[in-house]
Amino acid sequence: MSSAATRLAPSPTGALHLGNLRTFLITWALSRRAGWRIIMRIEDLDGPRIRPRAAHELLDTLRWIGIEWDGPVLVQSEDLDPCRDAMRRLAEQRLVYPCELSRSEIEAAASAPHGAVGEVCFPASLRPAGRPRTFADANANWRFVVTDRDVEFDDEFAGRVRRKPARECGDFVVWTRRRQPSYQLAVVVDDARQGITHVVRGDDLLDSTARQILLIEALGLLPPPHYVHLPLVVGPDGRRLAKRHGDTRVDFYRGLGAPPQRLIGLMGYWSGILPRRADMSLSDFRDAFELSTLSHEPMIFTGEDDRWLREK
Ligand code: GLU
Repeated sequence: MSSAATRLAPSPTGALHLGNLRTFLITWALSRRAGWRIIMRIEDLDGPRIRPRAAHELLDTLRWIGIEWDGPVLVQSEDLDPCRDAMRRLAEQRLVYPCELSRSEIEAAASAPHGAVGEVCFPASLRPAGRPRTFADANANWRFVVTDRDVEFDDEFAGRVRRKPARECGDFVVWTRRRQPSYQLAVVVDDARQGITHVVRGDDLLDSTARQILLIEALGLLPPPHYVHLPLVVGPDGRRLAKRHGDTRVDFYRGLGAPPQRLIGLMGYWSGILPRRADMSLSDFRDAFELSTLSHEPMIFTGEDDRWLREK
């Protein structure tokens, strides 16, 4: 068995929708073909957005589809010590600092345009000159010092990617005042300690990947994993799949009587391995899926897709 491994990393903030299913199905198919181990990691550090029963429901939906993983389900919040250790190592290098500025204070100081949706670019001018050499898990956000350089990496689907985190986000939060690591830090630490060699996820995270590579370098965790960033699933209006597009939960269609093969078949059609919508078994999807037939354009969930999923 190869020592390669990937992970399925759902956030229990809601039910599994068609976009998540697409990503997990492709990750599963690539893994089962290449012999990578699959780790199931519940990413429950998203504070107030976490729903108590969501993790259980997500796993149930995946099992219904037939997607399995190797080993126990890991829950991110259950072991944060490795992230505290990472913070200590970053503090020793004076690469992190506590920051109590509010969002509006940062916005007022940020002359650069905002980065990704809803994100304010933290300007280097607000970075304190003196930074502590020790990490204290007190009531403050901690930010990571982002130097002004390009980060480049080869994505196995998206190709060569270049980002400039200093312009896109500036010093980003790695530890939150809820006394928990941020998504960026937790992903880097957990991927490394869980031996993750391949990361497959949506391309809305390409900006995050650049930040994660900065952390991987600072923590001495090179090389980074191989990355496969997939185009997003969007609604007919081109916007990422969300409530405004109706009920796109897998369990919604399951409740209407759609069998797993119907949903898998839609994913096969979206992935360019079925010429038209048709039922498809999980093993046929696994054997037929190729990154090379996948479009680089977002996958569009249309009214016809919806009707087809509802057909008896
Ligand atoms: N938990 C993240 C999400 O659901 C996935 C992050 C990742 O794959 O790195 O969006």
